[in-house]
Amino acid sequence: MDTPGSQSSLHRANLERVLRAVRMAGSLTQAEIARTTGLSAATVSNIVRELKEVGTVVVTPTSSGGRRARSVSLSADAGIVVGVDFGHSHLRVAVGNLAHRVLAEESEPIDTDASADQGFGRAETLVARLLEQTGFRTDKVIGVGLGVPGPIDGETGALGSTAILPGWTGIAPGRELSSRLGMPVYVDNDANLGALGELVWGAGRGLSDLAYIKVASGVGAGLVISGQIYRGPGGTAGEIGHITLDESGPVCRCGNRGCLETFVGSRHVLNLLASSHGSDLTLSRVVQLAQRGDLGCRRVLADVGRQIGTGVANLCNLLNPRRVILGGDLAEAGDLVLDPIRESVARYAIPSAARQLSVVPGTLGGRAEVLGALALVMSEMGDSGALPATEGRDSQRSVAVVPSGR
Ligand SMILES: [Zn+2]
Repeated sequence: MDTPGSQSSLHRANLERVLRAVRMAGSLTQAEIARTTGLSAATVSNIVRELKEVGTVVVTPTSSGGRRARSVSLSADAGIVVGVDFGHSHLRVAVGNLAHRVLAEESEPIDTDASADQGFGRAETLVARLLEQTGFRTDKVIGVGLGVPGPIDGETGALGSTAILPGWTGIAPGRELSSRLGMPVYVDNDANLGALGELVWGAGRGLSDLAYIKVASGVGAGLVISGQIYRGPGGTAGEIGHITLDESGPVCRCGNRGCLETFVGSRHVLNLLASSHGSDLTLSRVVQLAQRGDLGCRRVLADVGRQIGTGVANLCNLLNPRRVILGGDLAEAGDLVLDPIRESVARYAIPSAARQLSVVPGTLGGRAEVLGALALVMSEMGDSGALPATEGRDSQRSVAVVPSGR
C-alpha cells in the first residue's frame, strides 16, 4: 500500500498533475507541462514516456517559438465524456473525447413547464442517440457533466429555487440522471459551466484567472481562480446579481432591495421597453433592434452596461481577474454593452486592477455551458481510468455523483 510521502505515492501525484494539465489544455509541449505543473523537465520527460508506453498520451512533433518541440495530448481512445445542459428553453447534449474534439452535438427546445421526469427522459434519449452516432460503447464514457440553471446545494446535491425550471426545485439532478444513465454524473450551475467552457475552449484559453458573467433572467458569475472554479463552501460564490446598487430600489427575488439583478435582469430590461416597444420583446430582439440603430434599445443597453460595470468593478477590486467574459444573449450586443461596462470599470475600480483587466464577449455563444459540462468532467474525473494500474488500486469505476460546491 502507498503511504503518503512514499516514493510511489509522490510519483502517482506527479503523474496526475501532468495528466490534469494536458487534459485541461487539450495539448501542451513538454516545456509547457513543466511550467504549468512546476515539475522539472527531466521528471516531465520520464512521466510522458511512461504515459506514452501505456497508450494514455500521444506525442507528436511540433514547433514552439521556432524551435522543435514535442506536443503531448491525450490519446483519442482514452475515453469519452458527455455534456448535458438544461437552459431556459433548450436541452443541449455533446459528446467529446479527451483530446478536446467534439464528436457529436445536438440541441432541442424544451418547455420550461416540463417536469424534471420529462426533462431527464429527453436527456437520456438524446445521450443514447449521440453515443450511437459516435460509435462508442457506453462503457467508454468516463463521466457526464450536467448543467442546470440554478444553484446546487453542496451537501445534498439538490437544485435550489430557480426561476427557469420552477418544477425542478428540490430535485437532485445529478443523482437522477446518474441512475438513469448508469454513469458518473458531475453537476454544476450554468454560470460555472460557462466559465469552464470559455476557459478551456473559448475566450479564456491560456488564462488562469477570469470571471464569466451571464446575464439572462438572473445574473450570475462563474469565477476561475488559479485555473480552478471557485465555488465557496456553500456553492454560492459568484452571485454578483445580488450586489446592492440601490438600498431603496425595487425588491429582489432574494428579499433584498435594489440588487444588480433588479436593474439588468431580462425581465426588468423588457419592462423598461414595454410601453414604447410593446410587450412581446425578447432580450435578443432588443439587441437586434439596438444594432439597427433603435435609440430606445441603445439607451437601455448602455444603462444596463453601466450597471453591470459597477458589479464588475467590485469584482475586479476583490479578485483582480485578468479577463471578464460576458456570456448569454447580451454578449451579442458587443461594444454597445461592453463599452459602458469598460467605462464603469475605469471609473469605479482601483486603477492598477482595472489596467490589467480586459472585458470581452464570450466566443462560444449558446454552446458555452455544454462545452463547459465536458470540461467539468475533465476537471473533476481524477485519473484512475487513465493511469497505469498499480497494486491495490481499485480498478472498478463506481457510479458517483459529485455535486458542486465542495
Ligand atoms: Zn437580490
